[in-house]
Amino acid sequence: MALIVHKYGGTSMGSTERIRNVAKRVAKWARAGHQMIVVPSAMSGETNRLLGLAKELASGKPGDDHNRELDMLASTGEQASSALLAIALQTEGLPSVSYAGWQVQVKTDSAFTKARIESIDDERVRADLDAGKVVVITGFQGVDEGGNITTLGRGGSDTSAVAIAAAMKAHECLIYTDVDGVYTTDPRVEPDARRLTTVSFEEMLEMASLGSKVLQIRSVEFAGKYKVPLRVLSSFTPWDIDINEEAKSGTLITFEEDENMEQAVVSGIAFNRDEAKISVLGVPDKPGIAYHILGAIADANIEVDVIIQNLSKDGRTDFSFTVHRNDYAKAVDLLKAKVLPTLGEADIVGDTKICKVSIVGIGMRSHVGVASKMFRVLSEEGINIQMISTSEIKTSVVIDEKYMELAVRALHKAFDLDQPAA
Ligand code: ASP
Ligand code: MG
Repeated sequence: MALIVHKYGGTSMGSTERIRNVAKRVAKWARAGHQMIVVPSAMSGETNRLLGLAKELASGKPGDDHNRELDMLASTGEQASSALLAIALQTEGLPSVSYAGWQVQVKTDSAFTKARIESIDDERVRADLDAGKVVVITGFQGVDEGGNITTLGRGGSDTSAVAIAAAMKAHECLIYTDVDGVYTTDPRVEPDARRLTTVSFEEMLEMASLGSKVLQIRSVEFAGKYKVPLRVLSSFTPWDIDINEEAKSGTLITFEEDENMEQAVVSGIAFNRDEAKISVLGVPDKPGIAYHILGAIADANIEVDVIIQNLSKDGRTDFSFTVHRNDYAKAVDLLKAKVLPTLGEADIVGDTKICKVSIVGIGMRSHVGVASKMFRVLSEEGINIQMISTSEIKTSVVIDEKYMELAVRALHKAFDLDQPAA
């Protein structure tokens, strides 16, 4: 008997029929002798619907963010789906109780719409489990010190589930979703993409931050910090498949490089089209210039990703960096207003039609020439690299958006990701 956390995404909770299926699956696990905690998302489309209503009524004035009320509103989606699931579980004959985040004290900071979990009080949940109940806890939401309802950012139910698993010291946290695991790349771009049976926590973290949408990045950070064994698997298998088969399906996110790890140099290719490039041309090449430009950007709370500075010529250089596309206009306006006037001859140009393609693999630590192979593959396809950034286990390039699919497919093939791991 083990304590297990199941998390079900919006699609898995998308209709009463699907909720009934979730209940049957959870019942199967409970009847196999496990203590069960279930963390559902809102029914698919519900969070968008609620936030859409708010948008119709919002003032739209800068400074009026309505964030506290948005959390009060959006959190109702998970409250509804949790209650429905508890009803379905009771109908299956399982004692079950549902709780909102504030009731089991999922304590967060007060950063409305993007709160961080600080602690979870496990007492009430523990008592219910010991009394033989399945406990359903809303995903996505918590409560701050002042008793205000908070939410954890879009996709936040993953993080709720992992945080609850950590607090309860669960044996495993199973994330049921509409894909059957973590793939070598997005199968919509490369049909030959393969499901990974295991991926290391560090690789998963890179993939999540580089654009793979399978898990919310904070959930992976949490899993890493508290060493929560995490598995991503499909909720679309028949609910009555053999539990032992189900328990081994999907992708396990592992912490040790044990011998079961797939031993590939590159484990996956990630990409994202969410960034835009800004170049400040002809800036004086002198100490403090990067700080001068990027300090202004940071002060406006805009995150910067890839950065390059060219060699200087006649005392002047070009400085480029990427920001999220949503921040692009704000960043350009700010540089034009505050920074450009102090730089003399300098000019600003931008490009929103870029994408970032990355190869990820812990094998890169011990293999040389991986990045150069990536550059060769791209050059053979005639793809120009605009920017490069690297870490121990990834190499990212910024390229023209129109070559994204070509680049992903060529790299996928070149690194043998379409072949079963040795
Ligand atoms: N319902 C929330 C969202 O749509 C949280 C989640 O699904 O994880 O973002
Ligand atoms: Mg999700």
